[in-house]
Amino acid sequence: MKNITIAIDGFSSTGKSTLAKQLAKELAYVYVDTGAMYRAVAFYAMKNNFIKVDFFDKKVLIDSLPNIQLEFRFNSDLGFAEMYLNGENVEKQIRTIEVSSFVSKVAEVSEVRSKLVEQQQEMGKNKAIVMDGRDIGTVVFPDAELKIFMTASAETRAQRRFDELQQKGDNVSYEEVLKNVIERDHIDTHREDSPLVIAEDAIEIDNSYLNKEEQFSAVLELVNEVVKTA
Ligand code: C5P
Repeated sequence: MKNITIAIDGFSSTGKSTLAKQLAKELAYVYVDTGAMYRAVAFYAMKNNFIKVDFFDKKVLIDSLPNIQLEFRFNSDLGFAEMYLNGENVEKQIRTIEVSSFVSKVAEVSEVRSKLVEQQQEMGKNKAIVMDGRDIGTVVFPDAELKIFMTASAETRAQRRFDELQQKGDNVSYEEVLKNVIERDHIDTHREDSPLVIAEDAIEIDNSYLNKEEQFSAVLELVNEVVKTA
């Protein structure tokens, strides 16, 4: 069977990573969560006080980029790769609401984007990859054989993210999560460099009323069709 590149883009908390993980497992492909990379850079900036509420020293972050080493290491117990920042596992730290509140500002910086995009393209050069993010089908892999664009209402997405954070014991309100989702949507769709837009040849899936299994089988059918003709 021919190996392809699967690009999954869309708004935050649309279940991109759940779908990408399901596909990667089924097809024995590599899964790359590019949001984790932007989150790790935001976490680094936060830890070093380059970014705070109402303060962002972009220049010092840009100058520090050579000191930021990102790596995915596969965790066979979990069945997916975890994010390492300068050799430290930061999976938990990068998923907090605090990092979520800074990440889109960090992701606006072109120098950050070009460093991460280069690394992502390198990871996908042999295909057999499922990558999720905001610019995968438009910038990272414009030639991907299958592009999916996922949407759902802001309220549905905030409720999903709120449930996840609650399960992890994170003490946040639904209103705070909804505000963060709306803010990130705005920054992600309005930034100058690689804004979140649907690629011309992407297939849009609104999963507000689809469960994970229905969505997975629909996309798997698409994969099979694309592989046949690739
Ligand atoms: O996917 P996730 O919600 O973890 O992504 C966090 C943030 O990282 C997004 O809101 C967006 O600002 C940024 N991002 C991006 N480009 C990507 C992936 C994520 O700008 N390819």
